[in-house]
Amino acid sequence: MIPAATPPDCPPVEQRRPLGQEELRQLATRVPPEASGQPRPGYGDRLQPSSIGWVTRAVWCVWIEPDPNPDLFSGRWRRGVDDALGRWSHELTLRRVDNPEDAQLRLWRRRPPRLGGRASWGRALLALQMVRRGGPERLEPLVEVLLDPGQRLEGLRATALHELGHGFGLWGHSDQPDDVMAASPGPSPPVDLSPRDRLTLRWLLGRPSLVGSGSPGPGSAETPASAPPPRSGPPAD
Ligand SMILES: [Zn+2]
Repeated sequence: MIPAATPPDCPPVEQRRPLGQEELRQLATRVPPEASGQPRPGYGDRLQPSSIGWVTRAVWCVWIEPDPNPDLFSGRWRRGVDDALGRWSHELTLRRVDNPEDAQLRLWRRRPPRLGGRASWGRALLALQMVRRGGPERLEPLVEVLLDPGQRLEGLRATALHELGHGFGLWGHSDQPDDVMAASPGPSPPVDLSPRDRLTLRWLLGRPSLVGSGSPGPGSAETPASAPPPRSGPPAD
């Protein structure tokens, strides 16, 4: 169980609005250049930044869809989700919020719709929005994670770990089956982060990102940082 949010981590959202095309274009011009020729740690070379750079944060406001009629079945979903969040919380600061409007990542207990005729246990989708939380507008990611409740606990844990990895900025897949972000997990999917998962995330967290920055209008002050995928990146299973 991750701790409930306390101010000032996740203040209430007063306003959200999608980014316009012109704002996205302006943000794209501010993406710091990547050092070329340097190998990236872990599976960093297999990750894809958005058109406005890397999208990640060290602190995330997380909302978990409650179950109005808790039973054994839904309790299993929640255990799998809590376990996966607990593993990621060793690498990131995660704060639980009770209002989905205040979240930057939302976990939904539902089966993802088929994509290209293909079914999957989970999916992560990223959007970028300008968000006001009692101060100036800032660029924030909003990640929707869909997790099918119809899995066994081990499968749920592994799926939740993997989709949360996408949500926290690992938009790509490892080529090693023992990483939670493996493109093709083995018969027993990993239920905890591998050293390569940790190494890759730590490298990612060190990239400059535009997330959390102010309005993309001219003259606005910016915290140096990388940026998340535009609007919404392609959904990742
Ligand atoms: Zn994936």
